[in-house]
Amino acid sequence: MERIYDMIIIGGGPAGYTAALYSSRAGFDTLVLERMAVGGQMTLTDVIDNYPGFAQGIDGIQLSQNMQQGAERFGTQTMYDEVVSVDLVSEIKEIETAYSGNLFAKTVVIATGANPRELGLVNEQELLGAGIHYCAHCDGRFYKDKVAVVVGGGNSAVSDALYLSHLCKKVYLVHRRDVLRATKIYHEPVMKAQNIEFCYNSVVSKVESENGRVSSISLIDVKTNEKREIECDAVFISIGRKPATEFLDGQLELDNGGYIVADESTKTAIDGVFAVGDVRTKVLRQVVTAVSDGAVAAHYAEEYLSR
Ligand code: NAP
Repeated sequence: MERIYDMIIIGGGPAGYTAALYSSRAGFDTLVLERMAVGGQMTLTDVIDNYPGFAQGIDGIQLSQNMQQGAERFGTQTMYDEVVSVDLVSEIKEIETAYSGNLFAKTVVIATGANPRELGLVNEQELLGAGIHYCAHCDGRFYKDKVAVVVGGGNSAVSDALYLSHLCKKVYLVHRRDVLRATKIYHEPVMKAQNIEFCYNSVVSKVESENGRVSSISLIDVKTNEKREIECDAVFISIGRKPATEFLDGQLELDNGGYIVADESTKTAIDGVFAVGDVRTKVLRQVVTAVSDGAVAAHYAEEYLSR
């Protein structure tokens, strides 16, 4: 007889481990499936200072481990594997994994978050890791005293530019509009940084390489059509994220951005299936809203399991 978990959570970020904490603490047999390392996007942040309870902020990796341990203390099990496909429609949900075979659960919480959005340059994949990167906090250290370009104007791009400005000789921030989307708290430090140059109203038309590594980019001013070439060692693409939902294969409704349609109850259109954290349609994607989703999903899952 196959084991049937009360709850399988796909994704071990803050939303996933909060659902796990609440579920296992309520006595439910709970499994978290995590593809790589627990923590999701939190692990890419040096100091998280907008999550309450830490007077000095907290290191993203440390907070990830704390959340995992907090859930495992109540019996949550973590399995490192990738979900290939799911059957969510049946009463007992079935999850096909890459290495551990098929798993079964009464409820499923999807907490897979989102992956970096690509810029769509012809040689983007070819130069990946050879000057093109999606994570300044992971790969910035390779560009000490070099020249880096950050593309994007949101919180991630601005925080990446700030981070790189402490390492690199020069940082160009390329944004397609004339005003940053990033929240005000980032504006002052980024404006103050002596080695950040803003390239507003600009899009990257081309990335050139030499000896297999990024050597320069070409920009086009979207207002004047003027062209500009910038010699650089790295391009950090920070233009938002695309939700990780490939494995769903059309079983749940997605919005225009590819996010799973679910309201603040985190309930999807399928009974017993919940979407939490960054993968769900929502206004504010933060650790604090992700953990809230996790708790709400566990609450409604408990209600569903008690029927
Ligand atoms: P975002 O807020 O969606 O910003 C994406 C940026 O990329 C926008 O400036 C957008 O330009 C630009 N962009 C999108 N597609 C582009 C393209 N094809 N070419 C050029 N530029 C393009 O994404 P994010 O900065 O990754 O942030 C994601 C979420 O995480 C947000 O909710 C954010 O608040 C949150 N976050 C929070 C913090 C924090 O609070 N400390 C830190 C990081 C991220 P337009 O402005 O023209 O659309």
